[in-house]
Amino acid sequence: MSIQDEASEFMRATDGVPPHPRCAECGVPMWLVAVDRVGPIERKHFKCQACDAELVTRENGQDTGQQNA
Ligand SMILES: [Zn+2]
Repeated sequence: MSIQDEASEFMRATDGVPPHPRCAECGVPMWLVAVDRVGPIERKHFKCQACDAELVTRENGQDTGQQNA
């Protein structure tokens, strides 16, 4: 365990934020199917084309919530 490894891992995680999340089940990039906005919060709805799982991201600095259809 080294601090350097941890730092580079952190850099990689924050630097390369993927535009599309991956399906937790299939590991494939999910498709953006809808965007809605409630006040300052923009929610992006992603759908897995393989298993129809849905994921909604909230662009308000919080983490993501996941829904399985
Ligand atoms: Zn899937």
